[in-house]
Amino acid sequence: MNLNLGLGLFIFFNFFLFLPYLLLKKRRLSRELGIPEGWKLIYTDAQGEGRLLKAFMKGVILCGKPDWVYQNRSQALVIEDKQGTKPGELYLSHRMQLAAYFLLVEKEFGLRPYQGILRFRDGQTEVSYDPTLIPALGTLLEEMRAILLRKTPARRNHSSRSRCRRCKFYEHCNERL
Ligand code: SF4
Repeated sequence: MNLNLGLGLFIFFNFFLFLPYLLLKKRRLSRELGIPEGWKLIYTDAQGEGRLLKAFMKGVILCGKPDWVYQNRSQALVIEDKQGTKPGELYLSHRMQLAAYFLLVEKEFGLRPYQGILRFRDGQTEVSYDPTLIPALGTLLEEMRAILLRKTPARRNHSSRSRCRRCKFYEHCNERL
């Protein structure tokens, strides 16, 4: 194949087929997620394709991959898919996961967190950014660090059997229900 023809096909494929396809896909996703106009998708890990976001806090390297991050000017909206059904009230772990994502998007993208959305199987919950979440996350990280350094034993902080049954550490956990 001649070089000019190859280059022409490459440009045609990218600009006239692939780019509109990506734009349509993004628009469909935004509609499905209920994202209002003005928000632009800047990061996704919905299929494991996102790079690991990192931040340093309280002597711990915090890593995470939110499912979707949207940007509107200097603000960020974080969306995460959850496996289970929507709880009556969010668990501390849900809030801390969002707090960690808020910190990560602030450090990695220089954006002010605006809101986090957790999408459960039967509905979603929106959590507005609250600056007190970050010190709460810091305290939790300190506790986790102490546990990892074996200074404090790990203790269960809930009484939900179903939660333990879904937990990745179930087989190895002495505190399981
Ligand atoms: S199995 Fe252990 S680590 Fe997992 S939720 Fe239950 S108590 Fe927590």
